[in-house]
Amino acid sequence: RIISATPVSSQEEAIERALRPKQLDEYVGQEKIRAQLEIFITAARQRKEALDHTLLFGPPGLGKTTLAHIIAREMGVNLRQTSGPVLERAGDLAALLTNLEANDVLFIDEIHRLSPVVEEILYPALEDYQIDIMIGEGPAARSVKLDLQPFTLVGATTRAGMLTNPLRDRFGIVARLEFYTPEQLTRIVTRSASLLNAPIHEEGAREIANRARGTPRIANRLLRRVRDYAEVKGNGNITKDIADAALKMLDVDTVGFDLMDRKLLEAILFKFGGGPVGLDNVAAAIGEERDTIEDVLEPYLIQQGYLQRTPRGRIATTLAYEHFGVSAPGRLTS
Ligand code: ADP
Repeated sequence: RIISATPVSSQEEAIERALRPKQLDEYVGQEKIRAQLEIFITAARQRKEALDHTLLFGPPGLGKTTLAHIIAREMGVNLRQTSGPVLERAGDLAALLTNLEANDVLFIDEIHRLSPVVEEILYPALEDYQIDIMIGEGPAARSVKLDLQPFTLVGATTRAGMLTNPLRDRFGIVARLEFYTPEQLTRIVTRSASLLNAPIHEEGAREIANRARGTPRIANRLLRRVRDYAEVKGNGNITKDIADAALKMLDVDTVGFDLMDRKLLEAILFKFGGGPVGLDNVAAAIGEERDTIEDVLEPYLIQQGYLQRTPRGRIATTLAYEHFGVSAPGRLTS
């Protein structure tokens, strides 16, 4: 996918780092979360304590990693970063934890994918800043308690529902990130364009923003592709027309759906009569993983009102029928 919501290469990650806002007041949107964090961070700093453990959840590309870095920076502490699938053994986590300095941030991405043994180590660490580790092997093995420095766990996940209850209960701050409005994305695109030294018109930025699936990562990625187009096919200026032509070429339609969005909706509409249809059937029909459909594709389609999740399966809404120029069942075709 040209505009998949996860970073696709290390070069892309480097660009993302460069475009990442560094302070809370540069972070666009998510007003409620920002206002809360500002208070909690100020209070923790005044008491010289670690910030409460914080869980950030929402679809990929909405700014969870960015926010974790901002939290560490605003707290004036180091950030150590890892991810659920990378932490395979209990020892991996123990090594990270024992190296933390007072009030540091440990950022664990995809925290719903921690293995049970690693999660076991994490509980006492979160609760009492202590870990139990095993020393030696066989009959001589014994468990030793180690004290840790106070720290903040910032966990990120695409779905809070996938966390075990005991883990979820240990987060004092839980923030759900929302899709961004076209206005907010216009600000993000304008800011990124200026960091990339790309001349952009307000209308050009808006065109990209309107078609970015409510997601900053996609907005930034589309911006870079549109900039290429502007440099090759125009004089470098990103105008509304240039943006529109470039996005057409990229198969991003006027409401921001890409090929996979359209494949998903078309399968439900035309192969399954508009639904209800189960997730497994949809996955098989479009050749996409269940997780990708649930975490990446569906949230935006649901938020925009094209799709509904019901106990009996997925259903395409009237809006979806209209988007594809067909009549919803039960209405007269004319
Ligand atoms: P996630 O961790 O949720 O997948 P990231 O934090 O990596 O998302 O964000 C992806 C990109 O989007 C970052 O490079 C950043 O530049 C941009 N971004 C995300 N949120 C914001 C925001 N609120 N304001 C400005 N840029 C943002």
